[in-house]
Amino acid sequence: MGRHITSVCVLCRRERVKLYLKGNRCLTSKCAIEQKRLGPGQHGAEFKKVSDYGMQLREKQKLRRYYLMMERPFLRQFMRAVRTKGKTGEVFLRNLELRLDSVVFRLGLAPSRRAARQIISHGHVAINNRKVDVPSAQLRVGDVVKIREGHNLQTVKGSVEAAKQRKSVPEWLDLAPEKLSGKVIRLPERTEIPVPVQEQQIVEFYSK
Ligand code: SF4
Repeated sequence: MGRHITSVCVLCRRERVKLYLKGNRCLTSKCAIEQKRLGPGQHGAEFKKVSDYGMQLREKQKLRRYYLMMERPFLRQFMRAVRTKGKTGEVFLRNLELRLDSVVFRLGLAPSRRAARQIISHGHVAINNRKVDVPSAQLRVGDVVKIREGHNLQTVKGSVEAAKQRKSVPEWLDLAPEKLSGKVIRLPERTEIPVPVQEQQIVEFYSK
């Protein structure tokens, strides 16, 4: 996703929902959404009537921002879901969850998706013992993700410990905290993807 010169909290305020873009700060009372600072700008919190198209657009933008993606790769991922058997919206979300950056974040190996993306790009992550520096790499059932030697392991350990205490690692992933690794043991169900979007609205947005 493009660089944001202002705080990424503006994105959450725009979408009026927590997108968890700032790691641990998102879990504190300092979060702009917790403080009910909704909508960017002085009149952000005011209610505005939104058309059907506007609602679909917002759902699409919300999901794209949640996964920190640019429009083109996001659309490519959607078209991939269209070509796959199953409910398009659910397949789409499932594939987004199975991106390497998302799995690293869900395992607690990084405090946010942004941090996950950074450690992957810097070559600190391996899939099945092979270095992978592409955050969008798609994982499959059976794949093992591991933090490679040489990275600041103390930071990762702290992050894993926090995730363990929050019990935030989903059941479709098997975390091995002592090895700083995790395995995809099955595909996630829709109910296991805690993303606050109505995916059907996004399907309708792209169907126009
Ligand atoms: Fe900022 Fe995180 Fe709260 Fe979003 S969820 S407003 S990124 S602190």
